[in-house]
Amino acid sequence: MGNIQGFMLLNLYAFIIILAIAIIFFRKKRLKKVEDETYARILVTSVILSFSGLILGILVIPSLNTNELLIYTVNKIYLISTTIWVYYLTFYTYYISLKHKENINKAAYIFKFIKYFSIIMILLLPHTVEVTENGSNAQGLAVVFTYMAYVVGLITQIICILVRHNFKNKKYIPIYLLVILGSIIFVLCSIKPELNYIINPTLILICYIMYHTIENPDAKMVNELELAKNEAEKANRAKTDFLSNMSHEIRTPLNAIVGFSQCIENAETLEEAKEDASDIVMASQNLLEIVNGILDISKIEADKMEIVNTDYDLKAILDNLVKLVETRIGEKEIELKTQFAEDIPENLYGDSGKVKQIITNILTNAAKYTEEGEINFNVNCVNNDNKCKLVISISDTGRGIKQDQIDKLFNKFERLDEDKNTTVEGTGLGLAITKRLVEMMGGKIVVQSEYGEGSTFTIYLTQTIRKPAHKKEEAVSNLILKFPNQKVLLVDDNKLNLKVGKRLLSNYELNIECVESGYDAIEKVKTNQYDIILLDIMMPKMGGVSTLKKLKDIENFNTPVVALTADAIQGKSQKYLEAGFDAYLSKPIDNMELNKVLSKYLGKNKKQIKVKEVDVEEVEKHQEEKEEKKEKTSLKKENRIEYLKENGIDVDSGLSLLGSVDLYNQTLKDFLTETKTRIPKMKKFKESKDCENYQILAHAMKSDSKYLGFKTLAEMSLEHELKGKENNIKFIDENYDKLMEEVKRVVNIVKSYLEKEEK
Ligand code: ADP
Repeated sequence: MGNIQGFMLLNLYAFIIILAIAIIFFRKKRLKKVEDETYARILVTSVILSFSGLILGILVIPSLNTNELLIYTVNKIYLISTTIWVYYLTFYTYYISLKHKENINKAAYIFKFIKYFSIIMILLLPHTVEVTENGSNAQGLAVVFTYMAYVVGLITQIICILVRHNFKNKKYIPIYLLVILGSIIFVLCSIKPELNYIINPTLILICYIMYHTIENPDAKMVNELELAKNEAEKANRAKTDFLSNMSHEIRTPLNAIVGFSQCIENAETLEEAKEDASDIVMASQNLLEIVNGILDISKIEADKMEIVNTDYDLKAILDNLVKLVETRIGEKEIELKTQFAEDIPENLYGDSGKVKQIITNILTNAAKYTEEGEINFNVNCVNNDNKCKLVISISDTGRGIKQDQIDKLFNKFERLDEDKNTTVEGTGLGLAITKRLVEMMGGKIVVQSEYGEGSTFTIYLTQTIRKPAHKKEEAVSNLILKFPNQKVLLVDDNKLNLKVGKRLLSNYELNIECVESGYDAIEKVKTNQYDIILLDIMMPKMGGVSTLKKLKDIENFNTPVVALTADAIQGKSQKYLEAGFDAYLSKPIDNMELNKVLSKYLGKNKKQIKVKEVDVEEVEKHQEEKEEKKEKTSLKKENRIEYLKENGIDVDSGLSLLGSVDLYNQTLKDFLTETKTRIPKMKKFKESKDCENYQILAHAMKSDSKYLGFKTLAEMSLEHELKGKENNIKFIDENYDKLMEEVKRVVNIVKSYLEKEEK
């Protein structure tokens, strides 16, 4: 009897301790990882287990004469909670010994199945409880099953620890000791069944030790913080390394630029100076390449690089790349062999810019690092439904890459074989960018190389196949479209933009109205019906996006609205569609694009559309006449344009934006008229320190200057615009005269150019 009381006391202590630990544990802030959650379950099961053990101990006191069914039920609960306890500890050991924790899902299902299976088995299997002087003695299949579960659990735990565990990790040593303890107790109880009473306190002891060693929530929190801190420090170090690397890489070409510039200063002959200048150009190109690379890689790393998907023709890109690499090969004795599969779809959908960048990088490397032999450029594909799996392989017979260096190949700023590389231009960024781009597009890049023999780079990319739609587009572009009497509203704060837009639109026999602000546009729309609206995005006070919102508030408004943007960044265009625009056109407006947009939105109204097919002969005749006329006047024109160029005006960029000399000249005239009124206004705003309005005029001047190729004036106006935005009146005061001098200079050049033109 004394024995029993001793055991009872032991069980009571165990229960009190585990209850206290459970309360403390659950009141603390905890991590929510799998192991923490599992430990929480072990704790709960321990409380139930030790409680049922304790109750059972009391119920079987002979003097109480307890109902047999009650004893039987509590015993079942005791058996079930023991099994579940062993189950959770096994799961815990399995989990911590797993190398790839993310693979736990499948195993978790199996574990769960075992858990429910065990519960059902213990419930269904019979067992008897015999009350003896020494307490109770349970027997039967349910008890045997519990023992078996205990054994299987212990064996699994030992296997997990032995097979999977990395013993260098000291953190989990308590678990090993606990498993050993569990095994010893089991062996003891098998030899002396009357010792059964100590199983319960042992399990509680294990739980208690776990709490004080590996499962203390406070220690775990601190650990987690430590890890996060290390992670942050690592990221910071990487950034510093990147910065210092970058500064070093940039300094090399900059040094060359400074050095050669000084040489030019001291050069004695023009020849000498020219040579130095060409070295400067080379170093500058290298610098530009590095800066572009850095921008690309930083964009990728900051998750700012966007995938811009469009329809494209891969074959056309490949043909272009072949030409590019041929020039890169230059005089070297390298044979370029290409083989492009016949079944590459005509029209793919994906980010053509990035596809091009990826292939260009690998191809130019092949050309750069090969002295003689051949470069094989093969593109194959597997087409399935609407997916095209591209396999692009580029192999060369160049210097090859050492096996132990292949891993470094895709690191930033990593250039292999530095001693050989001194004669080959490069930044060590190309492959780092390439790999990341390929991965961003869901593809893969693989390298095989034999040092001294050559290398093969294979890129796997999947693109979407599109039904060829461009046939129709081609047809549209062969037609001259006319939309007589259809009404267009053109909204832009810049008068020159309005004029250029108006001229472009006038080809379509449209009825065009222009307004200079979002407010005016809203007023117009309230009282007029338009078939299409072209709306500038960057306007002072109310920009295009807010104007659109207000327009959409107008009742029954359903006119298509096209955004006019000067954003050079491709990815942004998608933003306008998301903002509710029907389409977008980037400025300077491209004729073909305008054609497409107009035919899409105005073409729907079939009654009013009059499509005239171009009579090819007629056009050719017209063209010939034009050519003749042109030849006669071109010599004169050429001279006049030279005059502008000599005076630092980038006529070519102006012409490429405006399309023809006539339009360019007309725009120059508009510029003169505009400047006449703009300058006095600017002066007034400057004097009254009205930065906001000053900046708007500076913005307009910048925009005009860009159109016309006045590079210096465009740059100066931009500076004034930016300083105006910052309210930096001091800068404006100090630099206003300089700006006006440039305006005067440009105006004089334009005037004398136009005078010659009149003659
Ligand atoms: P870069 O060419 O600007 O140095 P990359 O990132 O493109 O930078 O390439 C990194 C390095 O990998 C190169 O410096 C070169 O040593 C090696 N490499 C790349 N392509 C090849 C190739 N086809 N054959 C041999 N070495 C190559």
